[in-house]
Order: sequence, then C-alpha cells, then structure tokens
Amino acid sequence: MSHGLVTAAYIVAAVLFILSLGGLSQQESAKRGCYLGMLGMLIALLATVFGDKAQGLGWVIIAMVIGGAIGIYKAKKVEMTEMPELIAMLHSFVGFAAVLVGYNSFIDPADVAPDMETIHLVEVFLGVFIGAVTFTGSLVAWGKLNGKIKSSPLMLPHRHLLNLAALVVCFLLMLWFVSAEGSMLALIVMTLIAFAFGYHMVASIGGADMPVVISMLNSYSGWAAAAAGFMLGNDLLIVTGALVGSSGAILSYIMCKAMNRKFLSVIGGGFGQAPSKSTQEQQPAGEIHEIKAEQVADMLKNASSVIITPGYGMAVAHAQGVVADITSKLREKGVEVRFGIHPVAGRLPGHMNVLLAEAKVPYDIVLEMDEINDDFKDTDVVLVIGANDTVNPAAATDPTSPIAGMPVLHVWEAHNVIVFKRSMHAGYAGVDNPLFYKDNTQMCFGDAKATLEEVDKNI
Ligand code: NDP
Repeated sequence: MSHGLVTAAYIVAAVLFILSLGGLSQQESAKRGCYLGMLGMLIALLATVFGDKAQGLGWVIIAMVIGGAIGIYKAKKVEMTEMPELIAMLHSFVGFAAVLVGYNSFIDPADVAPDMETIHLVEVFLGVFIGAVTFTGSLVAWGKLNGKIKSSPLMLPHRHLLNLAALVVCFLLMLWFVSAEGSMLALIVMTLIAFAFGYHMVASIGGADMPVVISMLNSYSGWAAAAAGFMLGNDLLIVTGALVGSSGAILSYIMCKAMNRKFLSVIGGGFGQAPSKSTQEQQPAGEIHEIKAEQVADMLKNASSVIITPGYGMAVAHAQGVVADITSKLREKGVEVRFGIHPVAGRLPGHMNVLLAEAKVPYDIVLEMDEINDDFKDTDVVLVIGANDTVNPAAATDPTSPIAGMPVLHVWEAHNVIVFKRSMHAGYAGVDNPLFYKDNTQMCFGDAKATLEEVDKNI
C-alpha cells in the first residue's frame, strides 16, 4: 500500500473515531457510534498491517489471530457486571504495550534524525513512565473491582510525600537519561518506580472513588497509546491516543462533578475509607420493616406515581427484563413510572442506561439524578433495586460519613420506599445505610430477579 493511500486511510479512520465518540454520547445513537468505531479500527488495522512501513507480516498476522481469538472468547463470555474489570485489564495491556514499545524504541531506534535525538529520548522516557503507571494502576483497579483486592484505601504513612518523592526522582532520572544520551540504568530504575507509583496511587483510592479511577486510567491508557504513536512515528496512533486520553479526562471531570470531588483529592486517595471509631459508634440503628412481594404488588397497583432507582444489584441479578415488564404493566394501568439514574450507579459509567435500553425501557422515562431529585417528595412509591451507596442519605445529612458530600438520589423523601436486596450488607463503598431504618422504608429481601418476578406475577 502506498504512503499516500495509508495517510488517506488514517484520515478516514480518525474521522470515523471522532464520529464514533459523538455517537456514543447519546443512547439513541450509541449503537451507530460503536459500528463507526469498529469500521474505523478495521481501516486503521488494514492500513497499518499492509501499509508502507509494514514488516514481518507473518508474525503480525499470527499475533492478530491469537489476540483476536482471545478477545472474541473473552467478550462473549464476560458478564455485563464484569465489564469494568475487563476494561481495567485491557487498560493494563495498553500500558504494558507502551512500556515494551518504549524499550524497543530505545534499544533499536529506527531512523531518528540526529537533531531529534533528545526529543526521541524524552518520548521514550515519558512513554515508558505513563505506560508503567497505567499498567500497575489498572491491575490494582482490576483487583479492586473483582474483589481480589480490598476496596478500602491503602493508607501508608506520608503517602502524599511518597508520591511526590517518586515524581521528583523520576524527573531527575529523566534529566540523567537525556544528558547521558540514553542510560539503560536510568530507564530501568524509573520503570520500577513508575510501577510502584501506579500501584500505590490506585491502591490508596477508596471504593467510592473507583468510577473516577476507571475513567482516569482510561485517559492514561490513551496518553500511553499516543506516546507509543510518537515513538513508532504512527500518526493515527497519536490521534487515537489523544482522543482516548482527552475523552477519558473529560469523563473523569464529569465523574468528579457527579461525586462532588476534586480531581486532585481523588488522586490523593482516602475517600470512602473505613469510618473512625466515633463514626462507627453512630452507625444507623433501629428497626427495619419487612415487606413481601405480593404486598409490594398491591402497593404498586394503588400508586399513581412510581420511581425506580436501579443499582449494581439489578445488574448482578439480571433483573432488568422483569423490571421492564413491571414498568409496562403499571403504565398500562395508568401509573406514572420513571427511572432515576445516579451517574455512578452500577460499576461503569452508563451501566444502568445500557441495561434498561437492552430491556427496551423507553428512553424518555429514564432520567438523570439532577432531573428527578426534586420529584421524590411527590412520589407515592420508590423501588430501590439493588442500589445502596447511590441512595444513602448519610451522604447528604451526615458530615462525618465517609461519603459525605457525594450527591445521591433523595429516595427517602418519597411517601414509600421499597428496597430490594438480599441482606443488610453495605454497598461497594462499605458504608452503612440509614435509609433501611427509616419509617417509610420497607425491605423486600431476596435475589432481586426472584422477588421482582413474584411482584410481576401479582400485578
Ligand atoms: P452498591 O454497590 O452500593 O450496592 C449494590 C447493592 O446491591 C448491595 O447493597 C447488595 O446488597 C445488592 N445486591 C447485590 N446482588 C444482589 C442481588 N442478586 N439481588 C438483589 N440485590 C443485590 O450499588 P450502587 O449502584 O448503589 O452504587 C455503585 C457503587 O459502585 C458506588 O459506590 C460507586 O462509587 C461504585 N463504583 C461505580 C462505578 C461506575 O462507574 N458506575 C465503577 C466502580 C465503582 P446485598 O448484598 O445485601 O444483596
């Protein structure tokens, strides 16, 4: 393939990626966005593999077949609830790839003009640094999301100082690396420090801040890919990396706003840590009121307005289908049913919207937290389905709570609240929920799908 054709293909792919990102911003156009992204990636791959700089085609094809087969197998097998873990794992691959590309580009620099040598060394150093931080950070995020690593923050003494020292030492190593016109020792020491820095940074971030961490690592993986693009002299990789990096950064900003957090304090870690002794003494206490599925059905039939606030538990129980069924039955009876979606409900941005769209719940009754929060006080029944942290009143009313200040759905203001969950266990942030002890709250215990099927039968 000629150089001109490769450049044209890269431009087409870059435009398709931008259109894809645009499509993904709306539920109605999200599918189209995915198809455009896939087409862009196919064009990019063909242009790179058969392009003017292509070498070792046989090896590339073998690697693509093996990687593609593993990817298809994983994508088919993965549960919707395991998606964030998979994404974190994929980010770690991007990070590690950037480290390998960096070392390769240092050991075997291809056609670096003499006046570009310093820039090339800086590219290598930064590329390896961002890649190494992304690699270990994403592995810790993967462990925290699948429960292999505790979600509570690691609180090492002087942790901010440790992070600052790591950054300063890496900067000094970069000066050494560049002034020595490339020192393998400096590169290796920096890589080890960056691995430790990535591990420590994500390990010290508490459960409640994980949504920001995931989008932040998404952004880092983009910058790591862009750095690899510079080292390989691949323009499309630079553009794609920059698109991923900046869209991840915007998503991190949106997530921070949704959680009322400052980006720097998220990076600093500690939010959502175990409550201090004095807070533990103030744990919510009191009586809980139980309700059976048939009684819930009666209550719903007699209501005129219902809001459903789904959370992670609805995803685990695969209850979205029965939720959609209950919704359409109630709407046929003239009950106003709407959904209130918290920006960090579930385990990945937009998790609940995807599940509800899959179950064919009409988009126009699915509202964001800010659009619906004022309406709870005029609502007859709220169904809290597998949500916990996102409906915890302590965030709004208890300044000593580990999640104080995080905006939540004001479900407790409704006339009646029914909570569907299996036990009295806390949510992902590990914080107790006083909602369960309120006079207008009733608990419907059991797997959400099973109990909601019972409700559905009785409507
Ligand atoms: P939570 O994780 O706070 O709570 C989920 C609840 O679901 C639990 O209380 C659990 O209780 C219940 N549950 C689990 N399985 C079932 C089941 N089969 N049937 C019925 N109930 C079930 O969920 P939220 O959605 O409210 O909050 C999301 C949390 O995840 C936030 O802390 C957020 O910061 C964090 N997070 C979000 C990410 C995102 O991007 N959206 C990414 C990473 C983390 P029980 O065990 O008693 O059944």
